[in-house]
Amino acid sequence: MSFNSLGLSKPILKAVQEQGYSTPSPIQLQAIPVILERKDILAGAQTGTGKTAGFTLPILELLMQKPIKKESFKVRALVLTPTRELAAQVEQNIENYSKYLPITSAVVFGGVGINPQKAKLKKGVDILVATPGRLLDLVGQKSVDLSSVEFLVLDEADRMLDMGFIHDIKKILAIVPKKKQSLLFSATFSTTIKKLADELLHTPTLIEVAKRNTSAQTIKQTIHFVDDSRKRELLSHLIKKGDWHQVLVFTRTKHGANKLTKQLEIDGISAAAIHGNKSQGARTKALADFKDNTIQVLVATDIAARGIDIDQLPHVINYELPNVPEDYVHRIGRTGRAGNEGEAISLVCIDEHLFLKDIEKLIKKDITKVIIEGFEVDKSIKAKPLSKRGQQRSNGQNRSQKPRGRSGNSNNSNKDRTQRR
Ligand code: AMP
Repeated sequence: MSFNSLGLSKPILKAVQEQGYSTPSPIQLQAIPVILERKDILAGAQTGTGKTAGFTLPILELLMQKPIKKESFKVRALVLTPTRELAAQVEQNIENYSKYLPITSAVVFGGVGINPQKAKLKKGVDILVATPGRLLDLVGQKSVDLSSVEFLVLDEADRMLDMGFIHDIKKILAIVPKKKQSLLFSATFSTTIKKLADELLHTPTLIEVAKRNTSAQTIKQTIHFVDDSRKRELLSHLIKKGDWHQVLVFTRTKHGANKLTKQLEIDGISAAAIHGNKSQGARTKALADFKDNTIQVLVATDIAARGIDIDQLPHVINYELPNVPEDYVHRIGRTGRAGNEGEAISLVCIDEHLFLKDIEKLIKKDITKVIIEGFEVDKSIKAKPLSKRGQQRSNGQNRSQKPRGRSGNSNNSNKDRTQRR
């Protein structure tokens, strides 16, 4: 099956061809015709499946079917994403795909000046990609008019809810017109997502490309049991021995990310950290340096890494296991993208065995365990009580609770949850 038979017009096909895509991915095959029929969709698809083109291409086609003169501040399609990085990435994709069309797009997110965003919106844009907090700021300042929205996309909806954006999303839903086409993408389906879908979508077509809550098949997953105190040594050993480049490493905390980055540098491995305490400029630079191989390792926290799209990222390392099992699925989704083989390695110490159990339960799979010679675990070390380890649980939080929104203050401004981690 080729892109030609999906009902897309020539300028779109030409742009797609220039991206080097020869065949549509499964999500594209399923979603494009349905969206072109003007139906709502509820799609279970992780980043890496080609979902961005899956919703962008048909939206471009439909926007072109009814060309409308651009008006100041009015947008016709609104794409909401949880993080700034994902927003920037999605908008870049839209620009690529609309290269041969008279369609304009813009991206707005927090952490950078609002005035250039206002200036762009004033000219009138067809497609706006936004993180919820900054969008509401712009709405408040009457710098964006959502009354003409024809298409609404919630991208990575599960992550938006995890990050506490539900109130912002509800506010946005109350502003956009009732009559519109809505597309909801989510890697996992909790009851809250289902509730949101019920409220937003009208008789949606369900599309699922990767099984719910299971990890992609093309990813080779391995566990190395190791003592906590020797994790860094093992990580440097693996990177050097395997001559790995472009290694994305996850830590649970921002502090942990900074510390590990420094230690890797001492070991002679070029690294940068990306997390919510870094300025937008530093985050953008770290990502750019990582993409063009200037640095070997990017150390990230979950939120910061969410949605990062790097072609054929070969190695993802969980330096620490996430305490929310769904995050494991999101993390390893950074590798093995668009059909390419990838490898996800987790360094697991004795204190993390319960996290591992939760993860294996979620993905319904026993992950292969490999002990690395010279890094055998010291059996005399006892597990520390879970509540005493790690910033995430230091407030006595139950492990099954999600760490986000843990302040219990659901009314605090959600403007930039990306700052948190
Ligand atoms: P996404 O899931 O939208 O983040 O896309 C993941 C990656 O797959 C991006 O780097 C896209 O450029 C790429 N991609 C999207 N569609 C295709 C396709 N049909 N063939 C090959 N690569 C694709």
